[in-house]
Formats: sequence, structure tokens, C-alpha cells
Amino acid sequence: MGIKSRAREFISRFCFSWPEICRHFHRAQDIRRTAISHRATIIRESNIRDAARLVSQIPNIVNLGQGLPEYPVPQVLKEAAQQAIAADVNQYSNTWGLPALREAIARKMKHYNGITADPETEITVTVGASEALNAALLATVNPGDEVIVFEPFYENYHPNITIAGGTPRYVRLHAPAYTFDADELAAAFNHRTRAILINTPHNPTGRVFTLAELQVVADLCKKWDVLAITDEIYEYMVYDGAKHISMATLPGMRERTITISGLSKTFGVTGWRLGYVVAPPEYTKALRRVHDYLTLCAPAPLQVAGIVALDMGEDFYKGMVEKYQALRDQLCVVAQRAGFKFRKPEGTYYLFTDASSFGFENDRKMWEYLLRECGLATIAGYCFYRPDARTQNIRFCYAKSPKTIAAAEERLALFTDLMVQRDLAKPRR
Ligand code: PMP
Ligand code: GLN
Repeated sequence: MGIKSRAREFISRFCFSWPEICRHFHRAQDIRRTAISHRATIIRESNIRDAARLVSQIPNIVNLGQGLPEYPVPQVLKEAAQQAIAADVNQYSNTWGLPALREAIARKMKHYNGITADPETEITVTVGASEALNAALLATVNPGDEVIVFEPFYENYHPNITIAGGTPRYVRLHAPAYTFDADELAAAFNHRTRAILINTPHNPTGRVFTLAELQVVADLCKKWDVLAITDEIYEYMVYDGAKHISMATLPGMRERTITISGLSKTFGVTGWRLGYVVAPPEYTKALRRVHDYLTLCAPAPLQVAGIVALDMGEDFYKGMVEKYQALRDQLCVVAQRAGFKFRKPEGTYYLFTDASSFGFENDRKMWEYLLRECGLATIAGYCFYRPDARTQNIRFCYAKSPKTIAAAEERLALFTDLMVQRDLAKPRR
């Protein structure tokens, strides 16, 4: 073969013609343009987790930000988890959750929530309530469906609904009491409504919805043949004698309610990632299919420890509620003294405040100021509202030691001083 024909063969084998190169280039660009899904583009990054990453890099911060307890887990639970690993419970578990754990959940549901559920067909263990929420929505919502949520809402709900292809439909919880208007709620229901997502006790406001409020929701669900998805992760954290009521116990609601909870908050094990869903068999079947492909199963050795947790005696729950109520009271005094306005939380471990009187442009700016100038980490309230809402709220988490809350008091005293100086420096008219 002559040198010319060899070169031609080489070019034809290994090189692209110019039009081919152009085609490849455009295809590559196309791929780059379309490689990020629409759903991943329209959900915003989590403010809570974003802030937590930033805060973890700053020394000497007093952290009342992300909702997680700063005290140790009960020894008995740590030992149960360690023993399960030592006993080689280290492989995938039953996809729906260890049968013994599902039985423990059934006992707890009956005893605490007043709901009778069959562990075989109605209970599924998930990777946190976070996965439970996603699985429930993915199993029930079709593109174009609307899901009603009270606003403010736990920041995950907007992305959860969006990822499932649904459209959030917001109904205001009106400050300062954070109650809803029954007519506004009724107006949100329509033929596109698939579900209403209810969180009680409520993050961020600390509301514990009353029977009368839940009854209004239930009546509308029945009228419009709509599903209730309830997030009851803070169910044990209710104060001053308030009572947690599960939506599924209201007449006619058991068959149209998906109840979600988990171990993260009650037992202070947010890193264990154990949640669960209680739902009628047909919903459980659909949701289990989604759950199986999302995560396969929750961490097996921790499920074993979860059984021990759920079987803890009344003293544990009583002690926990007393502890949180005292911390809430301590923080409320501190926040009030510093000039924040709020309704005393009836539940959860958050204090949600109106910070508009401090004169910041918005809560992001105030959050930044508290962090940088005072060394106090909080959560800026905007993430609990629809994107682009104009908000002036600061959320504090009080799942902290009394010492940490006392340290926050000092930081807020510094904040008060700085505000006085700022106001004095303002030109007088
Ligand atoms: N729902 C609400 C209202 C929450 O505040 C949280 C945060 N813990 C979750 C669900 C997620 O809980 P988990 O850790 O079980 O995923
Ligand atoms: N639920 C907790 C909070 O609201 C923590 C989980 C999260 O990171 N969003 O802070």
C-alpha cells in the first residue's frame, strides 16, 4: 500500500470529517445542555443543610440552627446497635423492615396513636421520615396533581412534591397564631388536588393542630376524595398538656391517610435514618414498590436497636418531654428579652420568631449578621416559604443543653448592643 492510500485509510479509520466533528460537538453540547433534569434544576438547595455545612467550619459558634439534639443517645440504644453489629446483623434486611421492628411499630401505633395497623400489610420501615415522604408522594402523585401544604412548611416539602411531579398549593398559617382560615383552605381544594400534606407538631412554627383544625381538614379530604399524608415526626414533643392527634384516628380518615413518623427526633438518633409509614394495604403496596427501588431497606443493625428504642418505658417519654419543655421555656425568655416576637411553641423543638422589628432587609441578611457578628447560628425563615417569598423570620432550635442556650443568651446580648450602636449611628432627621 502506498503512503497516500495508507494515510487515507488512517484518516478514515481514526479521524472524523469536519461535518462529523461538528455533529459530535453539537451532540456533546446537547448532552451537556440536557444532562441536568428539569426537576433537579427547579428545586433549590436545602438552606438548613447548606447552613449546617457552613457553620461546621466556623469555630466557637453557638449553634441553634439545624434541628438535631446535641446530647448523647441513651446508653441502652448504643449498646443495642453495637451488639447487633457484633452479632453480624450486617446484611440487607427484609425490604419492608425487620418483622420484629414492624411489630414494635404496630404496638407503638396502637398504644400512642390509637391506630391499629397490620405489620404485614400496612407498615413499612424507611430510611428516615425523609424517604417515607418521598416514597409516599412518588407512590400517589401524578404529574399535574396538586398537593396542598400549609405555609410555612418544613423545607423538604417543596422539593419532595416537585420531584414527584406534583405542584404545591399553599395555604397560609397566619402569624402570630399560625392558624389557617377554613375558607382559604376550602378554596385550595379542587379536582386536581391529590393530597394534603400535614405536619403536626409543626416545623417550623411549633403548632400542634387541634382536633377542631384537623376535623376541618378531614371534612375537606372526604368531600374531595383527597388523601392525607401526615408527618408526625415530632409526635412526642408536645407541651403544657397539649395532645398529639393522628389524622388517621378521625372518623373516615383511616382509609385515606398515610401516616409518617420515625425515630430521629424521639430518640435523638437523626443519623440512624430510621423512619416508617403506616398506610392502608393498597397504599402500602404501591409505596413499598417505590421504597424498594429507592433504598432497598433501612440500615439493618440499627433496625434491631430501633426495636429496643420503641419498647422504652413511659419514664423515657415523660423525661424527654419535661426536658424539652424546660429548654423551650429557657429559650423563650432569652428570645423575648432580645426583642424577638413569637407564639410560644406547643410542640417540636423549634422556636419560630418574627424578626421584622430589627430592620434588616430580609431574614437571610439577619441570619448572616447573627452568624458573622455574634457567632450565633440560627435558620433564616425563607426556606419554610415558597421560593421568592419575602420573609423576616428566624428559627431557633432548642434541642440543646441549658449551657448552650445560656451561651446563646450572651450572643444575643451582644446582638442587642450592636443594634443599639447601629441605631445611634443612624443620622437623625
Ligand atoms: N419531617 C419534619 C417535619 C422534619 O423536621 C424532619 C427533620 N428531621 C423530617 C421530616 C425528616 O426526618 P428524618 O430524620 O426521619 O428523615
Ligand atoms: N428537620 C431538621 C430541621 O428542620 C433537620 C433536618 C434537615 O436538615 N432539614 O432542622
